[in-house]
Amino acid sequence: MPNSKSPDTLLRQNFLRQLAKLWPPIKGSLAEVRKPCIRPNCPACARGDKHPAYILSFTDKGRRRCMYVPTELVPQLQQALRNGRALEEFLYQLGPELLRHYRRQRDAPKST
Ligand SMILES: [Zn+2]
Repeated sequence: MPNSKSPDTLLRQNFLRQLAKLWPPIKGSLAEVRKPCIRPNCPACARGDKHPAYILSFTDKGRRRCMYVPTELVPQLQQALRNGRALEEFLYQLGPELLRHYRRQRDAPKST
């Protein structure tokens, strides 16, 4: 037996390898907002500039929700959002790939 791994196993291993590279994947959107602070006589708030803050919007059981994101986490979350899009793209490709795989197996001459 030259190759004991079935094509299905190879597809699965490839999937898991891709998945590991895309950790952590998230879905949602990150937006910068400006908030007033609680300090009295804050010059930034007095100017109307307020303070930049980031919020992550996402859907939780069909309901739109959002959470504040600490500034230092913004680059990581941006990467996680890119990972999420890449993962989604990958899942879209996997459907046709599975079908082609199924057809190849069905049409392959049976070895007896
Ligand atoms: Zn302020």
